[in-house]
Order: sequence, then structure tokens, then C-alpha cells
Amino acid sequence: MTGRPVVILVDMLNDFVTGKLQAKRAKNIVAPLQQLVFAARKNGVPIIFSNDAHYPQDCEITQKWGQHAIKGTPGAKVISELTPDLTKDYIVEKRTYSGFYETGLDPLLRDLYRGEGVKTVILGGLHTHMCVRHTAADAFFRGYHIIIVKDGVDAFTAQVHKQGLEYLENVYGAKISTVEEIIKTFKR
Ligand code: ZN
Repeated sequence: MTGRPVVILVDMLNDFVTGKLQAKRAKNIVAPLQQLVFAARKNGVPIIFSNDAHYPQDCEITQKWGQHAIKGTPGAKVISELTPDLTKDYIVEKRTYSGFYETGLDPLLRDLYRGEGVKTVILGGLHTHMCVRHTAADAFFRGYHIIIVKDGVDAFTAQVHKQGLEYLENVYGAKISTVEEIIKTFKR
């Protein structure tokens, strides 16, 4: 497939959608992401869930946000609407904002497409200006092309979401595309 894409869904977990660190706006991106996941599976595009799985002593917990997405708790599970297909999808746990930071994400991306490796990361999920942004930064440093799912990322407020998108575009050259536009590129 041209672009050798992968879909990375960031922190679409109970605690961020309906739980302790709920973003009210998060519900708006669920249906578009379901469409994206469906099309990705149908077209053989790998899907990776980049999930917070915190230990209570993590810096995010102790210094900033308090308890959320603690490893093994219901709050750290992917929302039921986007349940991973464990026969096909990948789950890569993380302990801070970036999906790459001290995780196995980069080696996995290099192995996909029969060892040719991924070229394009399509990022959806939460939050535009935090975990999506930090994951995009690390993807940029490693030379991946970045597509942000316009209708599939969000944040606590419209303002920080918008600022997040602008930053991603201006700093990492991210392409901001709708689910509909992205799905078209999956079809060979
Ligand atoms: Zn966290």
C-alpha cells in the first residue's frame, strides 16, 4: 500500500472519555474513529492502540493529573465502542504523553509491512495538544510522515484543540485530514 500507513489511536480509554479525566468533547470523535477503524481493518492497515497504563508513582500521576488510567483498572481500558481486535490489532502501553517514550512502538512500526516498515502514522484520539502532540513529535524525530485525523482528535476545550492542530501542522508538517479523506487513500 502506498504510504505504508498505520492507524494509531491515542488514549481512547474509559477514564478519558467517561471517567476521571473526562473530556466532554471526546464523545464527538467516537463515531468517526469507528469508521476509520472499520476501514483500516477492511483494507489491511494495521491499528495500534497507544494506551496510558500508569503506575501510581508515575510523574503524570504524582506531579500533574492525579490518578487516571492506572494499569489494570477499568479506567485504563479502551472504550467499548472501539474495542481492539486482539487477533489483528496491537496494544502498546505507555506511561507518559508520548506513545514512543520507552515503549516498543518504534520497533513495531519498523517491523510492519513485512519488515519494510511504516512510513505514515495516522494519529487519532486524545488529546490534540498533549498525548497526540507528543506522539507526533516523536514520530517526526524518527522520520515518519504524520496525518492527524481532523474529526478524530479532540481535547478538553475547543481552544486548546484548535491550538493543538495548528502546532501539529506548523511544527511537524502534519497533514490534517478527515476520516473520509483518509479512507479514500486506503483503497488501492
Ligand atoms: Zn496519563
